[in-house]
Amino acid sequence: MIYNEEFETLPREVLEALQFKRLQQVLQRVYHTVGFYRRTFDAAGVRPDDIKTLADLSRLPFTSKQDLRENYPFGLFAVPMSSVVRLHASSGTTGRSTVVGYTKRDIDTWSELMARCFVAAGLTKNDIIHNAYGYGLFTGGLGAHYGAERLGASVIPMSGGNTKRQIMILQDFGPTAICCTPSYALNLAEQGRAMGVDMRSLRLRVGIFGAEPWSDQMRDQLEDQLAIQALNIYGLSEVMGPGVAMECSEGREGMHIFEDHFIVETIDPETGAILPPGEEGEIVFTTLSKEAFPLIRYRTRDVARLITAPCRCGRSHVRMGRIMGRSDDMLIIRGVNVFPSQIEAVLVGIEGLEPHYQLVVDREGTLDTLEVQVEVSERTFANADEVKVLQKMERRIVKDIKDYLGVSARVKLVEPKSLQRFEGKASRVTDRRKL
Ligand code: ADP
Ligand code: ZN
Repeated sequence: MIYNEEFETLPREVLEALQFKRLQQVLQRVYHTVGFYRRTFDAAGVRPDDIKTLADLSRLPFTSKQDLRENYPFGLFAVPMSSVVRLHASSGTTGRSTVVGYTKRDIDTWSELMARCFVAAGLTKNDIIHNAYGYGLFTGGLGAHYGAERLGASVIPMSGGNTKRQIMILQDFGPTAICCTPSYALNLAEQGRAMGVDMRSLRLRVGIFGAEPWSDQMRDQLEDQLAIQALNIYGLSEVMGPGVAMECSEGREGMHIFEDHFIVETIDPETGAILPPGEEGEIVFTTLSKEAFPLIRYRTRDVARLITAPCRCGRSHVRMGRIMGRSDDMLIIRGVNVFPSQIEAVLVGIEGLEPHYQLVVDREGTLDTLEVQVEVSERTFANADEVKVLQKMERRIVKDIKDYLGVSARVKLVEPKSLQRFEGKASRVTDRRKL
């Protein structure tokens, strides 16, 4: 099923013609209403009229997170405050958070795109959606909420936290779908079991998980623990919020980017050069329909690759593969680059371990070191009166990390339930170098 059949299946040439028309409009608008864009375009010696094809977009300067911070809070808005009906802010995971605004029409577009996501996940108005994304300044909660209402589904506005209550609601209201971060889904599954609830026999059949990096191995875990199909959703407040891209239940390989509203590019984060589709790089978005807070060539710092192969669901929109992580999350351990999600992919699924881990980065002399802390399962722990068993496991994990990722790590097995649990975005890395 496709929510907006017409726009989600546009043939490439028609889609690109639409993108170009919308691009011209947004460029004119930002040039004439946002001082920042007028200055940066002028400095680059390009005017909106110089952009005569989609490819010409590359002549325009990038917009960075730093630019947003320098214009905090409302400096990049393209409409007067009287037209803004909603404000949100990014979670501030990597520094001062950025503020974003929406007009009535922006909220309308956002709701439609989120409704498209739900339909891509196989949901209809007959579904009950348990929304455990945080409500508030974070875009996750309200974004998913409005989309669920637009679809006509029944939405349970749970927000994050209060996990025992969430488990009761999951049992009593019988939602068929759940939205939250993958780490919180794992947390819910664990606490549910601890309360004696058979988490596999709930009515849930779909999980829509995002807002943080996760691995296919974690997907297998969640699908198994909750007896659901787990799908990936992507978004960021600067560009809109959740619903910029969504995996479809037919394809399950990469998330369709709603290209009638966003132009996507992948670039080399060092040089800024545009990469051919399929190559891993930093994702850059230009918004085509946003009124209050349009963004031109916004560097997300998220690293992924684009998939142009047609998808069996019939949507023509390009897909983006799993996000390995943000370029600023990338660890460089003795010269080898590694994302926390890659370590997760190695750990999750090793027999005898739990999918709860924490990475500690430190410095010894001039070299960075990585310690991987991971929980062992209750069973392993109960049977591990012999230190040898645990030592053998540690050696095996060290070897797997070295074999798959080329990184030498220290591994520390820890007791079940001893590491931190998360209600929103997980924070996996402790960086002792900065202390
Ligand atoms: P913050 O940047 O402060 O965390 P947001 O709440 O807007 O602010 O979060 C957006 C970011 O969350 C994205 O830029 C990306 O790094 C991450 N993210 C969102 N969805 C996913 C996903 N499905 N997979 C990996 N990372 C994601
Ligand atoms: Zn698809």
